[in-house]
Amino acid sequence: MGKSEYKRVILKISGEALAGENGFGFDFDVIKRIALEIKELVKMNLEVGVVVGGGNIWRGRSGEGMDRAQADYMGMLATCINALALQDSLEQNGVKTRVQTAIEMREIAEPFIRRRAVRHFEKGRVVIFAAGTGNPYFSTDTTAALRAAEIEADVILLAKKVDGVYDKDPNVYSDAKKYDTLSYIEVLEQGLQVMDSTATSLCMDNNIPILVFGLDTPGNIIKAVTGEKIGTLVSSIK
Ligand code: UDP
Repeated sequence: MGKSEYKRVILKISGEALAGENGFGFDFDVIKRIALEIKELVKMNLEVGVVVGGGNIWRGRSGEGMDRAQADYMGMLATCINALALQDSLEQNGVKTRVQTAIEMREIAEPFIRRRAVRHFEKGRVVIFAAGTGNPYFSTDTTAALRAAEIEADVILLAKKVDGVYDKDPNVYSDAKKYDTLSYIEVLEQGLQVMDSTATSLCMDNNIPILVFGLDTPGNIIKAVTGEKIGTLVSSIK
């Protein structure tokens, strides 16, 4: 088994990733694969916090004509459904977990309490952070940046459909160029599709590196922590 470069990480999994090829809802084979990769991280004694998105169920901006805050609250609830799906798969595969939500729902999960989350990490539990930041107008990428800062994570592992950051959309342009490294400023100035600008700024201000990589290739989460050259690393140094 490889050795991890990090001690504590935030793994951001978009809702889309949980849907696999379907684009909507759940692909339980994909969820199981992700759970087994997370299990490997725990076996390496890595402390793992997972931030889940909600895009496979609902995104605030899909609510055309709706009150934005209302639509965003629906999105935050969607992330809770995903958190419970991932928790189920992790527990079924022998990984101890806790879900912590930014909006209280005590019958199904703990509220987010930073010190408690850290205690769970020390006991080897994976903590799944759900309901985003608890505030409308934010994203789960911003949640990943916020929680990473709060729990002093060494890195954000940003698992995506695309295998890194490109200068233009690789699904549209065959000559799109992938970056190995980027600085936060370059991401912001060039408007590159990594995270939204709020999330990128928060990472920049708190010096949290972001490793962007593709989740579709099995084994990539493990490669991401063992220092294999995958994806794009966004940090203060180019
Ligand atoms: N959301 C929110 N505040 C947050 C995090 C999420 O309002 O702090 C809402 C927002 O509507 C967003 C939805 O939850 O569209 C789902 O999150 P996101 O789009 O980030 O999920 P992903 O694209 O990662 O699946």
